[in-house]
Amino acid sequence: MVNIIVIGAGVVGLSSAVSIQRALPGVKVKVVADKIYDETTSIGAGGIFLPTTTNIPGVSEDTLRRWSETSWHVYSKMATSDLASSTGHTKPLYADIVYSYREMSPGELIKLGVYDNFRFGYEITTVITNMRKYLKWLMNQFTANGGEVERRKIGSLMELYGQCNVVVNCSGLGSRQLCGDKLLYPLRGHLIKVKAPWVKDWVYTDQQAHLFLSDDFVVLGGIKEKDNWSLNPDPAVRQGILDRNFRYWPALTGAEYLEDWVGLRPMREPVRLETEVIRSPQRTLKIVHNYGHGSNGVALSWGTAVEAAKLVKELISKTSSSKL
Ligand SMILES: Cc1cc2nc3c(=O)[nH]c(=O)nc-3n(C[C@H](O)[C@H](O)[C@H](O)COP(=O)(O)OP(=O)(O)OC[C@H]3O[C@@H](n4cnc5c(N)ncnc54)[C@H](O)[C@@H]3O)c2cc1C
Repeated sequence: MVNIIVIGAGVVGLSSAVSIQRALPGVKVKVVADKIYDETTSIGAGGIFLPTTTNIPGVSEDTLRRWSETSWHVYSKMATSDLASSTGHTKPLYADIVYSYREMSPGELIKLGVYDNFRFGYEITTVITNMRKYLKWLMNQFTANGGEVERRKIGSLMELYGQCNVVVNCSGLGSRQLCGDKLLYPLRGHLIKVKAPWVKDWVYTDQQAHLFLSDDFVVLGGIKEKDNWSLNPDPAVRQGILDRNFRYWPALTGAEYLEDWVGLRPMREPVRLETEVIRSPQRTLKIVHNYGHGSNGVALSWGTAVEAAKLVKELISKTSSSKL
């Protein structure tokens, strides 16, 4: 029998699955998901490591710092190791130090030609993850460790009664239906990928405009529309993103359009990382929930995955001691 079923093959599900394999060697883990790789939200994420308390409301600063530090430890190690090309971690320009955050002077902003629009700026050295490579890498880690994958839509958590010892629910927005979780809602994003190899820096603003770098393209964003479930690009939103980015960064002129991508951030206040035991007269279903990472799911995925694996371990050890 499979011991652990992880619902979800996004960055949270795959990180949780790999963390469980590492924390509990010998345990059989199966990932069940109706959407895999490029059908997930995770594939389109800008992949920047920039977790903030504003993005992740309802989680204490201490907890958020702990998740972020665990994730940072893993990401920064990958970005600076010989794994960088296969995991898709690229060091932003000047990133010889692991992390830096420094207020820029007005003189620097004037020299950069952005002072008319932005009176404050920060220079940040962080990790940007190429999600196409990274999800593939996570999946390879998982299957190489003996993990199984099944493509299936779970209609109800009750379907999994008797099929495993613990269910790890990393279904993102899917938990709205799976758990009837009304705290969960979509925060819609729209990205435009362009080819502009001369652009070497990423920029994030609070004016619904940002550009992130990937290996082979530049990603222009970005909006956060609450409760909008549409996955179709909206022409007006699209034009707004282009107008703002090209106005702030004229150096984008000449960029070649590649494609639009719309994704729904699984937003919840707070992120749900906890256990639940559902009992019926005959059976018991033990669950670890790990979903609702909103705008920072890539950044927080390892931190929450490691804690989800600890919760799985606790549930399993309770089961074995109660059998004695
Ligand atoms: C435009 C945009 C830009 C972003 N940029 C960043 C960024 O720069 N940095 C960052 O940290 N984060 C970013 N994010 C956020 C990040 O993408 C998400 O937080 C993250 O992808 C959530 O991962 P997940 O695994 O929880 O969900 P998903 O990737 O949505 O995966 C959910 C999985 O659950 C499965 N599932 C759901 N319901 C069921 C069911 N009933 N049965 C079977 N399977 C089910 C799905 O099939 C899927 O495999 C961005 C998001 C968007 C939209």
